[in-house]
Amino acid sequence: MKQENALEAVNVSCVFRINQGLLKGSKPLVAVNGVSLQIQKGKVVGLVGESGCGKSTLANILLGLQRPTSGDVLYSGKTATGFSNRHIARRIQPIFQDPYSSLNVTKTVKSIISLPLRIHKIGDAASWDSKVNEMLDLVGLPKRVAESYPSQLSGGQRQRVAIARALIMRPEVVICDEPTSALDVSVQSQILNLLQDLRLELGLTYLMISHNLAVVEHMADRVAVMYLGRIVEEAESAVLFKEPKHPYTRALLSSVLTPDPRLGVPDTQLGTIFPNPIDPPTGCSFHPRCASRIDICSQKMPAPHLEKQHMAECHLFSK
Ligand code: SF4
Repeated sequence: MKQENALEAVNVSCVFRINQGLLKGSKPLVAVNGVSLQIQKGKVVGLVGESGCGKSTLANILLGLQRPTSGDVLYSGKTATGFSNRHIARRIQPIFQDPYSSLNVTKTVKSIISLPLRIHKIGDAASWDSKVNEMLDLVGLPKRVAESYPSQLSGGQRQRVAIARALIMRPEVVICDEPTSALDVSVQSQILNLLQDLRLELGLTYLMISHNLAVVEHMADRVAVMYLGRIVEEAESAVLFKEPKHPYTRALLSSVLTPDPRLGVPDTQLGTIFPNPIDPPTGCSFHPRCASRIDICSQKMPAPHLEKQHMAECHLFSK
């Protein structure tokens, strides 16, 4: 039986105009370039790639925070254009990288967690309090934390508050954008395990965005690898980590990963630096860094090649 998709991007592109100065006019920056991605209900899809590859723009499009230039987003098979932003917010919620900057430091934990209920006018003050207590329990925080401020909490506790806020509306899908990379290593696995437990308990669907392949391998059922606005490889997690096809994925897997997201994926195996998205390379956009490139790579963009649910966009496979 075919599994229903909770969230789907269909040939989504997003182009920004970048001002080049008074006499030079503007140039297009293609942040997302014809991306199609399906996230089945109850599954975890990992999205990996270096900083600037378009992951966060794609996340914003899926969250309804950024309109795509073309293409469509489907929520449970229905086009996003039929939904208001409020309706989307009830179905899909984000958890961001840095819980400190994503929480209002002037508000109590109780106020932060109950905010979505108050915005959407769901229930009353008494029910908000009991709902907050329920959420604190769910994310493993004591009830007394309700009256605390974010500055009085540890990084891990703050991320638990952010998770409680994201889940209080019981969304179907959660987009986790680098959910542990601002945390101490010792706390990271606790938060990942909490996310995994909550997914099973509440039947959630996750898009797990991370530069850290170990996080994605730990959590994801399927993995999509993004490079310069395109998904260049996608497969079941076990297959992708065992038998990566695309030279970029292979380079990522053989790189020494850093826990600091600001550093992105190191270039040890990738030669030259990440290209300027305003002036992308011709042909396959990975060709200036690719150790396996052949003549056609600089001239023609490769077509996606699909074999046994394993997609790779590379001339080595599309011949
Ligand atoms: Fe490398 Fe060519 Fe494949 Fe691009 S198409 S990844 S340059 S081999």
